Amino acid sequence: MQFEYEIKYSKRKTLNITVERDRKIIVRAPENTSTQKIEEVLQSKKQWLKEKINHTQKYPVDTQTKEFISGETLLYLGKNYQLLVVDEAIEGVEFEQRFRISKANQPNANALFKQWYLHQALKLIEPLATNFAKNLGVIYNEFKTSEMKYRWGSCTPANNIIFNWRIIKAPMYVLEYLVAHELVHLMENNHTPRFWNILSIQVPNYLKAKKWLKENGHLLEVDF
Ligand SMILES: [Zn+2]
Repeated sequence: MQFEYEIKYSKRKTLNITVERDRKIIVRAPENTSTQKIEEVLQSKKQWLKEKINHTQKYPVDTQTKEFISGETLLYLGKNYQLLVVDEAIEGVEFEQRFRISKANQPNANALFKQWYLHQALKLIEPLATNFAKNLGVIYNEFKTSEMKYRWGSCTPANNIIFNWRIIKAPMYVLEYLVAHELVHLMENNHTPRFWNILSIQVPNYLKAKKWLKENGHLLEVDF
């Protein structure tokens, strides 16, 4: 069986194969690995890969889009907040226990909310990263937000940490877990017992966060 896959070379020592939530196969390999070697490993794991790829959809596909009308709710930090569309002039999005936008802004509400969520993501996630990096004694290069829908976070060989801005919809303890997770990867590349051990010290309730993601992860695949 032939697989389509993407190779990401890095300074790592071992070869690692993952199937992303969009069913894409990612091979993380040491820099000098030959394509032949990668093909061999893929073939040796073909049963496992086949099962992963053919696995029935983990989550229902949420095709519902927001209309940005009064009474709709939007998810933020794990809670649903109501939207109110008002006649008065409001610049952008106002948030205080509920969201408020001007009727005049309704046509571009999608862009305004995205801007608001992105801003909150930067404001709330970056301090978490600074804090966990300090606690762990690791240094990251750059903090970025991204559009990737099927990954919550990642770290690059250049020690950049990248987060899907939509994770701001998850509760704070989930954000803490996701941020700490990527930073622990700067110490330990793979999900070894050592990795989970270090992580559990930083985020003692990480299992609760993983559970939230398992049950609600699909909510982070749509914008609002
Ligand atoms: Zn990981």
